[in-house]
Amino acid sequence: MKKRFEEKVILLTGGGSGLGHAAAMQLAKEGATLSLVDLNEESLEKVANEIKKEVPDVKILTLTADVSDEEAVKSFVQETKQQFGKIDGFFNNAGIEGKQNETQNYGIDEFRKVVDINLNGVFFGMKYVLEVMKEQGSGSIVNTASVGGIRGVGNQSGYAASKHGVVGLTKNSGIEYGQYGISINAIAPGAILTAMVEGSLKQMGGDDWEATGEEFVKANPMKRFGKPEEVGHLVAFLLSDESNFINAAVIPIDGGQSNKY
Ligand code: NAD
Repeated sequence: MKKRFEEKVILLTGGGSGLGHAAAMQLAKEGATLSLVDLNEESLEKVANEIKKEVPDVKILTLTADVSDEEAVKSFVQETKQQFGKIDGFFNNAGIEGKQNETQNYGIDEFRKVVDINLNGVFFGMKYVLEVMKEQGSGSIVNTASVGGIRGVGNQSGYAASKHGVVGLTKNSGIEYGQYGISINAIAPGAILTAMVEGSLKQMGGDDWEATGEEFVKANPMKRFGKPEEVGHLVAFLLSDESNFINAAVIPIDGGQSNKY
């Protein structure tokens, strides 16, 4: 049986850790050719080597870049197209959480930084990838929003603004590009245990962060954190041909928690 991503080229940002790492592994197992982008060269190479060990015949291009730098985004999109001839799917995922604080104390520099990466970065990615996909007349984009992009969580001005912005961009562009055979959706993960969430728990609980985590998940209907692999499966589905008629949608993956906030 043909694998879902055989002969498909997938570009993915934030590939060096967490959700990007898990999605890249899933896509590679299903036959994808990958172009992986991350700011952190070392972790990117580590992930690429891990994938090559698991899927020896995988084709992977690794590109170190900052998604908040428009020229860098333009060039990693061009390089992917040049190397592989097309871009079938784009997981527009790199992001940071930022320092937690009440709005009045949420520094403007921190706000700008979080919005630059999480929102401007997603916009730049869509802008340049959509040029390629429109010319092809096909493609799928998955933007990473968050439960913090559909609900108020608190202490996260920059994160909330950026992730609500990602939801807005997704709906707007999904409406524009559906007619060209391109689907654009967002995922809204709840707390998935990755380096980013570990960082948040440390901000909340310091050395006691594991106990803080246990307390935190008691509020979840499923009483646990999500696993990066679970998000990887959702991303693969949304980038596959099986989900072609899902467009401009925002899909929570949070154990049901966003219905409780
Ligand atoms: P992570 O910290 O494990 O991975 C994020 C990756 O993005 C890292 O490898 C990092 O180096 C890279 N990155 C950061 N800034 C970058 C930049 N400017 N340019 C290029 N790469 C950059 O975090 P994660 O949990 O995998 O988060 C991935 C995405 O999922 C983020 O957008 C995050 O906001 C979102 N998200 C995560 C959760 C969660 O619970 N983990 C929940 C909701 C949304």
